[in-house]
Amino acid sequence: MTFMRARVAYPRASAILLAAAFVAATACRTTPSSPAAGIDLKGMDTSVAPGDDFNAYANGGWIKATPIPADKPSYGAGAILADETRKHLQALFQESSSAASPANGDAHKIADYYSTFMDEAAIESKGIAPLKPELDEIAAIADRHAFARMLGSGLRADVDPLNNTNFETDNLFGVWITQGLTDPSHNFPYLLQGGLGLPDRDYYISASPNMAALRTQYQAHIAAMFKLAGFTDPSARAARVFALETKMARVHATRVESEDVHDAVSWNRSELTRKAPGLDWPALLDAAGLQDAPVFIVWHPKAIPGLAALAGAEPLDAWKDWLAFHSIEGAAGYLPKAFVDERFAFYSKALNGIPEMRPRWQRGMDLTSEALGEAVGKAYVQRYFPPATKAKAQAMVDDLVQAFAKRIDALAWMSPETKTKAKQKLDTLKVGVGYPDRWQDYSALEVVKGDALGNAERADLFEYHRHLAKLHQPVDRGEWWMTPQTVNAVNLPLQNALNFPAAIIQPPYFDPDADAAHNYGSMGAIIGHEISHSFDDQGSLFDASGRLANWWTKADFDHFKAAGEALAAQFDTYKPFPDLAVNGHQTLSENIADVAGLLAAYDAYRLSLHGKPDVVKAGLTGDQRFMISFAQSWRSRTRDAAMRRQIATDGHAPAQYRALTVRNLDAWYDAFSVHPPQKLYLAPPDRVHVW
Ligand SMILES: [Zn+2]
Repeated sequence: MTFMRARVAYPRASAILLAAAFVAATACRTTPSSPAAGIDLKGMDTSVAPGDDFNAYANGGWIKATPIPADKPSYGAGAILADETRKHLQALFQESSSAASPANGDAHKIADYYSTFMDEAAIESKGIAPLKPELDEIAAIADRHAFARMLGSGLRADVDPLNNTNFETDNLFGVWITQGLTDPSHNFPYLLQGGLGLPDRDYYISASPNMAALRTQYQAHIAAMFKLAGFTDPSARAARVFALETKMARVHATRVESEDVHDAVSWNRSELTRKAPGLDWPALLDAAGLQDAPVFIVWHPKAIPGLAALAGAEPLDAWKDWLAFHSIEGAAGYLPKAFVDERFAFYSKALNGIPEMRPRWQRGMDLTSEALGEAVGKAYVQRYFPPATKAKAQAMVDDLVQAFAKRIDALAWMSPETKTKAKQKLDTLKVGVGYPDRWQDYSALEVVKGDALGNAERADLFEYHRHLAKLHQPVDRGEWWMTPQTVNAVNLPLQNALNFPAAIIQPPYFDPDADAAHNYGSMGAIIGHEISHSFDDQGSLFDASGRLANWWTKADFDHFKAAGEALAAQFDTYKPFPDLAVNGHQTLSENIADVAGLLAAYDAYRLSLHGKPDVVKAGLTGDQRFMISFAQSWRSRTRDAAMRRQIATDGHAPAQYRALTVRNLDAWYDAFSVHPPQKLYLAPPDRVHVW
């Protein structure tokens, strides 16, 4: 469970999609103009009463003055920091290109991967030839056995229902490999629903005119891709692919259903065949490298039989069109400009409202940074993450853990038994700061100069094989699920662990030169958010060992659930468009983490003052600066299409509502004299604390 929206990890993820997801819906930028306060005074709008709209009060000036760059779906602190991190990486990449680096070394591979992607003329001259062998293989499929093998050979470790909460894959099934839900000492393959080219089942099924228009555009896009790739009857093929995906969407679980960990079941190999008939499972599993796995955790036990039945019943020719289309789509980012442009026109422009494509060098850097994640990360932290910063961030993590433990002690509603279990979970929490203890070894990954698509395919397969190998290895609680150069953070419920990548531990979130009010309001709340995920509506289902097990007394859990319902109801009232509201249940885990994280960060901030009052700066008290810093960390502007997509598919509420989390903090009412009938005022019993 992440701090903000994670990248959408499509197989062979195109740079365009990465662009859409990387600039997460988030925000905050301290301008150098007001270093004394640690917050951005010019970015505020003090004509708005804090109690009426705290986001506008803290961020109104910035929102009015800041256009969304033409190549981004949204803009805010996360996006700005990602851009700055990319500049750091650019400097590293330029050094990597030196011919002096050893031939099979990481630096050489980074340089070759990047420069091959950047050689547009070479890519243009090859046309679709690099993809031809795969398309020929699909065309040669003569029966359901060969079809199942083709499906299996394309599976990748491309979804992650609990850490990065990524449910999207255009493969028929997504694979995730980690500890078992009830067996934390062994790794298992998880199987998830997949197969859709649009982000979620809603896009196929919803009656809204907006979604209907996107469906028409998607079908035209499928036809355009077939035409570019030289297929006959592109429109007829597009209609077949779209009809097939619509049938898949109808058997898919909803986004909210996907969050229910209790739906998952364990099936052995024969149960897969028996309970999900229609598909040649042995052929599929063999081709996927899963022939030795005795047991599978089936995350979507209704959808997977539904998809298997379609695999057995729908015409093979329709399936071959579907395979061919997704093969072209997945490769498009590495093919000539016409493919890149067509893909951008649908996935970025139509689906996310982005007017302009990012420059090629940025896409190339992101793709290289994905493909050689920890090789890039290792170079990045050596240059940009000094040990002193790591030590300071580690100390802040310790403060937040202590503050959270004190909050558990002080909970009036929780029984001593449940408190003991909660404290055990906190005591054994494994926190990773900056980067992993052990780096991945890329020596077996072959990067070939001049073969852009092949490099991407080999990197994907290399990563999949790394995950498959875990099936024969002991569980590693120190495994990282984000690269150090990622501007984000993540809670790992099954490992009872946290990752705080180096790239989020920098200004404006964490500034070694800023004061406590600023740093606790922003980085403190981020750390608190991730700790709190261990105790949100999902995290709280896992015990100190990462096992899905109930450690609550019934009365305590009932109280906890009621608090969650109140928070869901609070978020259900937020409507960014007249026809669309935030889904309080879909975003509940994240909202609980925001509330609990903010409360713990506030406690830690007060503790850091050792009972003395904080100084007043720029006319603002310490408490005021803490809360403004928090809201400014959610400063954001988002395009309408991207906002609609976020509400349909993301576990995180839009940033402008996350800034309003302060209305659940009692101290906010004192700090800004908030009173009825101001719009954000909540009577004390309506303020949700959860923890
Ligand atoms: Zn989160």
